[in-house]
Amino acid sequence: MQATDSNGRANSEGDHEFLPGYKSVDDFIKTGYKAVLEMTKLSNSLPSDEHFHYYSSYPAFEEAMVKQGNQTLRSISSVIQSAGMKGNIVRRDMEEKFELLLDSNDTILEQVALNLDEVAGIRKNPGAEEKDVIKVNRPLSGSWNQSFSSPSSVTQEIVKSNTSSPSALRATLPKVTVKPQHSFPDKIDNRPGAFEPKIKEKPHALKPLSSLLMLSDYGECFSHPYEYELDLFDPPEHQLIPVEPKAPRTDQTPLKYVDSPQELKHMQQHLRNYKEIAIDLEHHNYRSFQGFTCLMQISSRHSDFIVDTLKLRGELHCLNEIFADPKIVKVLHGADSDVVWLQKDLGLYLVNMFDTHQAGKLMNFPRLNLAYLLKYYCDVDVDKRYQLADWRIRPLPEEMIQYARMDTHFLLYVYDRLKNDLWESGANSDRLIKAAIHQSTQLCKKIYVKPQLTQEAHLMLYQKSRKMFNNRQLWALEKIFAWRFHTAMEEDESLPYVLPNHMLLQIAENLPREMQGILACCNPIPVLVRQNLTKIHRIILEAREQPLVQTAATEDLSMRSNQTEWTKINIESTLHCPHQLLKEEQRDNLPTLLGAKKMEEVKVKGILKTSATIAVFSAFGQNTKLASSKKKVMSPYQRYLLVKPYLQHLSNLAALKEAADKEIKVDKSSTTNQLELHGLAQVQQHFEELDSRTAAQNRTPVRQAPSESEEEDGKSASVKRPHAEFESLDGKEEEEEEIEGPLNKRFKEDKIQPFRPGRNNLSVAQTQSKFQRNKKTNQQKKKNFDRGQKGNWSNEAPAATQNQPGPSQAFNYNQVNFNKFQGGSRNVDKRKNFNDKGNRGRGGGNKKKRFNFPQRQNQKSHTYKT
Ligand code: AMP
Ligand code: MN
Ligand code: ZN
Repeated sequence: MQATDSNGRANSEGDHEFLPGYKSVDDFIKTGYKAVLEMTKLSNSLPSDEHFHYYSSYPAFEEAMVKQGNQTLRSISSVIQSAGMKGNIVRRDMEEKFELLLDSNDTILEQVALNLDEVAGIRKNPGAEEKDVIKVNRPLSGSWNQSFSSPSSVTQEIVKSNTSSPSALRATLPKVTVKPQHSFPDKIDNRPGAFEPKIKEKPHALKPLSSLLMLSDYGECFSHPYEYELDLFDPPEHQLIPVEPKAPRTDQTPLKYVDSPQELKHMQQHLRNYKEIAIDLEHHNYRSFQGFTCLMQISSRHSDFIVDTLKLRGELHCLNEIFADPKIVKVLHGADSDVVWLQKDLGLYLVNMFDTHQAGKLMNFPRLNLAYLLKYYCDVDVDKRYQLADWRIRPLPEEMIQYARMDTHFLLYVYDRLKNDLWESGANSDRLIKAAIHQSTQLCKKIYVKPQLTQEAHLMLYQKSRKMFNNRQLWALEKIFAWRFHTAMEEDESLPYVLPNHMLLQIAENLPREMQGILACCNPIPVLVRQNLTKIHRIILEAREQPLVQTAATEDLSMRSNQTEWTKINIESTLHCPHQLLKEEQRDNLPTLLGAKKMEEVKVKGILKTSATIAVFSAFGQNTKLASSKKKVMSPYQRYLLVKPYLQHLSNLAALKEAADKEIKVDKSSTTNQLELHGLAQVQQHFEELDSRTAAQNRTPVRQAPSESEEEDGKSASVKRPHAEFESLDGKEEEEEEIEGPLNKRFKEDKIQPFRPGRNNLSVAQTQSKFQRNKKTNQQKKKNFDRGQKGNWSNEAPAATQNQPGPSQAFNYNQVNFNKFQGGSRNVDKRKNFNDKGNRGRGGGNKKKRFNFPQRQNQKSHTYKT
């Protein structure tokens, strides 16, 4: 066989053939494919079942069939033999024939896959995979106080090995085949309910250990065992003054791998001698419902420790002696998650913690991730490739140990430097140091809460997707969402492992009639989806039977298209647009779209709202002429001017009729007078009606306050006119053609007092302040959401912080629900990193984009997908 290029084409002049009769591989494939198609067609046209028996009663047919059958069997047999399979297909009975055929197919396809890999160069170097596993170094246990490797080489290794991508890296790491949870000493309890603290002894107690069941925003939970101590915590004086920064003795720091109780004891003894230690954790949350801590890194001024928290899970509570000691500072970076992971998995609590992330915030650093601080203070470029690695792997590969070590190795030095900088920034006082410590102490009060399924959870996912669902699709989304949650709980898997968000949305959107269609929505097909295919299928069939509710969905769409309009004019939040009549009710009603009874209410409200909204907003985007001209909003007064002649006409008619009815003769001037009065009364009534509607909707028909971003980036030029306030003050409103901006309108309305009985306008200032309040709440929500634990979905009901009750808390955890896998709390950097590279971040994407609905912009009605 001659050499072929990657496309399989003969790369010489073409007079050589790939196989006799075939010029190239392509040629061969085409001919073969054609033959297979033809044969399939012919065999399909053969008579089957009773027809076949009928035909078989004709000897000629029977003879032809036997002859053809034998020939087919012989061809199959030769193919099987050439594939190296044993067994003679000709002599077997029917069932065995099929078995052999299936086996042979599998073998051949497997061989094809291997060959393709080889061609693609993946297996050029057979044994490469094995080599990686062998390369995995032995942990360093037993080498107590022995320098593992010089830390300068630590730095070099980590810094230099920055070559391959995280995914390439994952591919070279060994796979974990047995879930470590199976050998945990404590039973994993995924059932809903309060998480029970694991702590049994309470070192450094100022108050005896007690756990009280309390009611929090997230349901019942047990009180924080160290709450009292944390409340009373006052940092020792020596912590509040500048220090001489102590750089780690890089070339002399020993590294110790701790995975036995004895080594743990040694470590504990060592740590007791220090006034400050650095701590970090690595966590796994993909193949587990609540996630678990895989590794704990601890650094003292003289040693680095890597603690195997899988192996020592049941033993580590003894470290409370150090962790809860108010005289020992525990330095962590971005401790939000660590605080709850420590209590969830190890029963450990921190008293006297210093979070370098919080300190960085107080220093107003442009970036707050650890990599930035390390670069800034130590000029070390760390490589965060392993951040999302599978930390369950045992034995832990050398590179991962070295990576983990870097997370705490420099942290105490960073702490020294940060404290000095805080001192300086605080005008040479301990003001900022105290603030950092205070904020860190607040974080220590977080309480772990188990994941919960809330009624709105699926709607948050829906809202974030750019999809438009009808009630059937929403119904399916809710049910499959719940199925996923319960399956994850029972199987002890994460939600994305059971079914990633984007596949879930895809299934709910398509509502495939066939099971095959469900599988087609998933690539690759999650194991638990395949196993539960009939369950999912049943949900979909039931969803398809839901009566389609048109009004509600249209309503929903109109609301979304308004969102688009507002997005276009750069309003930060649609939820807080004072002009949007539909806003609150619609959001609140979304869940009830599924209930037929509440549906009615939506409809009723819809009649009023739809028209008002569209009347105002359609002018923005739908009519390009209008949109491009300055005519955008029409004030009630202008509307009045437009209808005035008509109203007058009506009143005239009515008055004439009245006069005629009563046959009263009046002189012309008094009639006019009366008619005018009558007209005015009608206009007044018109405005009263308008006002009562607006009052009913609780809307603030005044100025639409600019969003923060509007003010910042000035992108809102299309609606915001620089001196709108003054334009209407020139006293020519009657003849004014141009339609004014909201502010303008208000001024004008002020001048036509007589027509505005019972107005419920808020003043500009009031509106502004209301808007600011809303914005604040919104920002708080965003903050809470950002605070969500670093992609740790298992904490999606975020750990309740006892003294962080806020107006938005009740809503917060829903938001956290869906974002955990899109990256996390601490910094944009990591989140981006995760979205870009982590394959669990699929469906994350650019958040800003998600709030645009370009394809729906001018849409008022919608045809349903069924
Ligand atoms: P770190 O403190 O950076 O070492 O991170 C500790 C743990 O947090 C890691 O082991 C991950 O489980 C998790 N984690 C960190 N960053 C992310 C991220 N961007 N997305 C999801 N999980 C993360
Ligand atoms: Mn960390
Ligand atoms: Zn870490």
